[in-house]
Amino acid sequence: MSAGRREVKKVRVPVPEQDPHVRIHNFNEVALGYSLEQAMEEASRCLQCHVKVAPCIKNCPVLVNVPGFIKKILEGDMKGALEVIMETNSLPGITGRVCPQEEQCEMNCIMGKLGDKINIGKLERFVADYAREHGIRPEVKIAPPTGKRVAIVGSGPAGLTAAADLRKMGHEVVIYEALHEPGGVLVYGIPEFRLPKEIVRYEVEFLKSIGVKIYTDVVIGKTLSLYDLLEEFDAVFLGTGAGTPNFLNVPGVNCLGIYSANEFLTRVNLMKAYLFPDYDTPIKRGKRLAVIGGGNTAMDAARSGLRIGYEEVYILYRRTRELMTARIEEIGHAEEEGVKFMFLVNPVAFKCDENGWVRAVTLIRNELGEPDESGRRRPIPIPGSEFDLEVDTVVIAIGQRPNRILYQEVPELEVSRNGTIIVDEKYRSTLRGVFAGGDAIRGEATVVLAMGDGKRAAMAIDEYLRTGEWPEKIVPMKLAQAD
Ligand code: FAD
Ligand code: SF4
Ligand code: SF4
Repeated sequence: MSAGRREVKKVRVPVPEQDPHVRIHNFNEVALGYSLEQAMEEASRCLQCHVKVAPCIKNCPVLVNVPGFIKKILEGDMKGALEVIMETNSLPGITGRVCPQEEQCEMNCIMGKLGDKINIGKLERFVADYAREHGIRPEVKIAPPTGKRVAIVGSGPAGLTAAADLRKMGHEVVIYEALHEPGGVLVYGIPEFRLPKEIVRYEVEFLKSIGVKIYTDVVIGKTLSLYDLLEEFDAVFLGTGAGTPNFLNVPGVNCLGIYSANEFLTRVNLMKAYLFPDYDTPIKRGKRLAVIGGGNTAMDAARSGLRIGYEEVYILYRRTRELMTARIEEIGHAEEEGVKFMFLVNPVAFKCDENGWVRAVTLIRNELGEPDESGRRRPIPIPGSEFDLEVDTVVIAIGQRPNRILYQEVPELEVSRNGTIIVDEKYRSTLRGVFAGGDAIRGEATVVLAMGDGKRAAMAIDEYLRTGEWPEKIVPMKLAQAD
């Protein structure tokens, strides 16, 4: 550490945000981001720990050189700052906004011993936004053509990252995406008020500018098969995510007005229900919405519900606030916006009216027992504690699993009980030449974990393309599965 005797400000430079009373009536971004002066001031708090020991670097799944880019901000060299970040992270405008920084780069920030931890996420976002607004592009070195071709299935953060890295290594890269717009959950799941789609499009354009080809509206497993890709390409990376929602197996779950979070958010985001009346996307606009779950998806559904006009929005979660998996910032924002939280409750039934529309959810109260496989205390229902909550719409946000379309006709590709693709520590699947990463191997996880997988898989693919080596048997990598 080289802080010397310099006085450091203990308190973070606050991030300007839209007022909660105003923002619940629009889909504009909530956090407004730092100005140049604010970014400089926050950057000046960093102690510039040595890269070999800086915990912020070690705790970032894509190993961003945090002190390195912060130093460039202080020098006023934003192109340099962008280049330092983009050495390892090709989607900085996205990660700066949606990474759970408190559990990653910021978790053990040394500045935390003296005062507030450095606001690394907002500084990363500042650099990406400043560069975009000032037309600054990083210098990218592309290795000479190798003559090898790689197909990437899925254009979420795992696929986009693998594509960028493989392209820089000199390989020809083609992405196939099932939807009409690239980005995966970044475009169809995370709402505009957290991640403007313009940012995702800009970062996708960067990939195209370095020569990555993207074909949308192509479903591998339907339009083309995995075997077709293996004939045409030297290797394939599957970054197909976890887009199939888990549903509750309780009476009344088929009432009208009960959505999966995936469907609800896709209607709001990708099908632009939030731009009503310009886009008249069919979506229920009732008065009382209950969202079941405690992750980012649940927060996004609840906050979107408020913005499309629900008067009362509830989050119903089976454990306690501290055990929710959503980013702390999103929980705080949801509370500020007036979302009502009910903890330690589980839905046991839904009740419909005479026309089949949901009118209530029956909940049972829980108490916490011993920790389960996720390390968090298990919710245990308290017999006889059932009660009804009247609602007219329900969104179920209790996790997602991979979609099986792609591999149902490929028996050689082994998947786990949860449908995740089995890979070894080099992201090799049980089918020669096929690699996988992101939510497709983990279940629903995070953007930056998917990116980390994309990066490491790109290195493994490059090695395979050079050596042709493939093991006789795949030894499954141990991965933390999503709860
Ligand atoms: P995805 O982003 O799911 O992308 C997979 C892509 O593959 C999709 O575009 C899909 O259409 C395509 N595809 C699938 N099958 C095929 C096929 N057969 N042929 C062609 N294409 C196919 N993480 C965070 O870090 N921070 C957050 O704040 C956050 N919020 C979230 C909010 C919501 C609502 C959701 C749903 C998730 C959130 N996550 C968040 C999780 C994060 O978005 C995911 O972990 C991440 O997007 C996974 O990336 P991926 O590339 O593996 O898959
Ligand atoms: Fe932090 Fe995410 Fe950036 Fe890594 S990529 S430094 S975890 S914000
Ligand atoms: Fe050290 Fe924190 Fe700065 Fe990283 S961000 S170099 S841990 S003070």
